Amino acid sequence: MTSLREDLRADALALPDPAKLNADQVRGGHCCWCDTPLTAESAVDLGERREPEHWFPRCCTACIRAADRSHIGMCETCVEEPGTCQTASALRQLVREHAR
Ligand SMILES: [Zn+2]
Ligand SMILES: [Zn+2]
Repeated sequence: MTSLREDLRADALALPDPAKLNADQVRGGHCCWCDTPLTAESAVDLGERREPEHWFPRCCTACIRAADRSHIGMCETCVEEPGTCQTASALRQLVREHAR
């Protein structure tokens, strides 16, 4: 059984390198892409990561929408077999969960 967060593979999401981020981004207090301070309501949890180091990527609602859009352009599965990509469906679900 795989969970939603496990479907969000780091390579498919193009997560930033935590070594280059500030402490607030690494602990999930700020968006891992745009460094916006997050609140409990606005934060999108991208799942705890243990590689390349232990960190907690979270992002804002604008960035999860941007990630959803850009994923389709860089994913072979989405081009060749639309509708079968687990990353795309996980991203869509996160966008839905955080749509206001
Ligand atoms: Zn952001
Ligand atoms: Zn895909």
